[in-house]
Amino acid sequence: MSITLHNINKSFEHVNVLEHINFSIKQGELVALLGPSGCGKTTLLRIIAGLETASSGQIYFADREVTKLSAKQRDIGFVFQNYALFRHMNVAENVAFGLKMKPRSVRLNKTAIDERVNQLLELVQLDHFAKRYPDQLSGGQRQRVALARALASKPNVLLLDEPFSALDAKVRKDLRRWLRDFHHELNVTSIFVTHDQEEALEVADRIILMNQGHIEQIGTPAEVYKQPKTAFVAHFLGDVNLLYGYIENNTLIIGDFHKDMREQGTWSDQSALAYVRPHEISIAKMARKNDIQGEVVRIHTAGPTVFLEIAVAGQPKHIDVSISYRQYEQQQVEIGDTVYWQPSLVNIFMQDELLEFMI
Ligand code: ADP
Ligand code: MG
Repeated sequence: MSITLHNINKSFEHVNVLEHINFSIKQGELVALLGPSGCGKTTLLRIIAGLETASSGQIYFADREVTKLSAKQRDIGFVFQNYALFRHMNVAENVAFGLKMKPRSVRLNKTAIDERVNQLLELVQLDHFAKRYPDQLSGGQRQRVALARALASKPNVLLLDEPFSALDAKVRKDLRRWLRDFHHELNVTSIFVTHDQEEALEVADRIILMNQGHIEQIGTPAEVYKQPKTAFVAHFLGDVNLLYGYIENNTLIIGDFHKDMREQGTWSDQSALAYVRPHEISIAKMARKNDIQGEVVRIHTAGPTVFLEIAVAGQPKHIDVSISYRQYEQQQVEIGDTVYWQPSLVNIFMQDELLEFMI
């Protein structure tokens, strides 16, 4: 079932918390709603679920307008961060609960319910735990039960609000991979709320990036990561160096580095901040064309990636560079060495937008 939001606005007591939200999600897509805490993700998800009403705007599931329908009428599955399972019911009973509560006219018979519950528990790989009680399960297992329960009545739309954020890092990582694989087997359209950019980048088919009640950018993980439309997006999606330079004739100039920026727009001559991710920098011991000179001031070698800090004349902050351990061994750089470096991918944004991020 596709989902379309048309100009959704929401205010609580005259404070706008959502403004002009427009997007479409395709049938079967897994979309992440990503943004910092307080930006309006939960409110938006609750509006889509029918648990909250929008101040204005329309919502469509496929061609049907659902704006005024109750949560029940919308046929959705919902998983919350701490979806407390019923403690006095075992796993199978928890999953069956919604099915048993249906009105008699549409309720499955007992055998069919048992069959459906078994199917779901197999799906979330908890079929051996059917008779256990919630407090005999790990956090990750409990959220899988919550997911099975949300899927019990075969909803067309699955909404997940930070479902893994209460779990520890390792379990969270396993579960998000599992969710991604598992989602592609299901014929369901899902919206997954998270404030964790790594989680969104890894799980989602597309990301809707929110900030202070509005959408900053919508795109695939690769698009939003490599071609951020705003400085906010560039900052939010991971580590980034801010390099001071200027633009002349649509060319970005940082020391000896020159790059034609016409692909990213038309620029008036001005000073500029260039955004460069640590792994989008190549370094060498001998100067190449277009290289900027610097001095290695720190090297961290734990793990498969080596992090270098490079001091550069004219730049107020050290430049962070990440390279593979192999590359590091080949380069043989040491603290105090002069190195030459240049970015392979640079983004710049309009000046007025930058100001709020200048530190
Ligand atoms: P997120 O899920 O992204 O952290 P929320 O949707 O929970 O953000 O909240 C967005 C904003 O709306 C916040 O400023 C929050 O304080 C406000 N808000 C949320 N629910 C209510 C409510 N019921 N009454 C008043 N303000 C609310
Ligand atoms: Mg929230």
